[in-house]
Amino acid sequence: MNPPAFSLCVYCGSRAGNDPRFAEAARTVGRWIGESGGQLVYGGGRAGLMGEVAEATQAAGGRVIGVIPQTLVDREAANRSCDELHVVSTMHERKAMLAERADAFLALPGGIGTFEELFEAWTWYQLGYHDKPMGLLNVAGYYDGLLGFLQGTVDTGFMGAATARLLRVGTDAETLLDELIEGLRHSGGDNVPPRSVI
Ligand code: AMP
Repeated sequence: MNPPAFSLCVYCGSRAGNDPRFAEAARTVGRWIGESGGQLVYGGGRAGLMGEVAEATQAAGGRVIGVIPQTLVDREAANRSCDELHVVSTMHERKAMLAERADAFLALPGGIGTFEELFEAWTWYQLGYHDKPMGLLNVAGYYDGLLGFLQGTVDTGFMGAATARLLRVGTDAETLLDELIEGLRHSGGDNVPPRSVI
């Protein structure tokens, strides 16, 4: 069996939100990963958008790696169907493994867990701890408020425009995914993850 063409870490809600477009987008992302011969790396739960993206990835023939802390196995309904399910001791271990196994990151709508993961990976990128492409999928305007706030941090001089540009923002899942994986090819070759110190 061929190794996965790429590993994409998806950060997203452990809830599904109250607009069906959120789950639809998660399924589109999963399907795209599977149909592109890729691998999903994610938080390892069946709950919310996390479950949607994992199920759609496998249904489309993709591989799934889940990483979940022991304390969340019940709360987030650990996904025993993962091709690899890692039950780890701490949240820190989870985040380190997610980042380590990923070639690129994509955030979908979610709550503060999603924000925390996205911002940590983005700050690591800014500091040069990794150079893995990062994307934010703004489904149904969910992130409009946050994006406006972030522009304000650039306008007021608290964030450089170059840092802002590290996060690629899109509204169409397939277009954004194409761009992210294209970025990956530029940084290392078809199946070669970019250099990273994570
Ligand atoms: P949420 O977006 O709040 O639904 O959470 C999405 C995922 O982020 C869930 O798997 C949470 O377990 C995870 N999460 C919550 N808090 C943190 C944290 N401090 N660091 C990393 N992941 C977290």
